[in-house]
Amino acid sequence: MEKMKKSEAEWRQELTPEQYHVLREKGTERAFTGALYQNHEDGTYHCAGCGALLFQSDTKYESGSGWPSFYNPAESDAVQTHEDNSFGMRRIEVTCARCGGHLGHVFPDGPRPTGLRYCINSASLAFKKQE
Ligand code: FE
Repeated sequence: MEKMKKSEAEWRQELTPEQYHVLREKGTERAFTGALYQNHEDGTYHCAGCGALLFQSDTKYESGSGWPSFYNPAESDAVQTHEDNSFGMRRIEVTCARCGGHLGHVFPDGPRPTGLRYCINSASLAFKKQE
């Protein structure tokens, strides 16, 4: 995966304030407020920062968490994971492998076959409906 590097000034210009807060400042949108947590259409989910394919609708499921939840990325190298010990919690952060944008976290309470829950902010995703 070729990395994309942009200055924070460039990101600030290209992204909405909410996208910037989530992707570049590791923000979290409030549960049940995002545009895509209830999206059930067939299609693909891309990084709102760089357009990389991240998730597919056939791995999206209802986790009840209030954020879009997937049990697997589109490709194993589409996302990267990092230890995150902020806010007094031990979590695994998920970032876009291409642009490094913050997407959300992954938890070990997902459904089969992976047992994983990729808990992803709507603001970091761009949905492309299948034609
Ligand atoms: Fe990206």
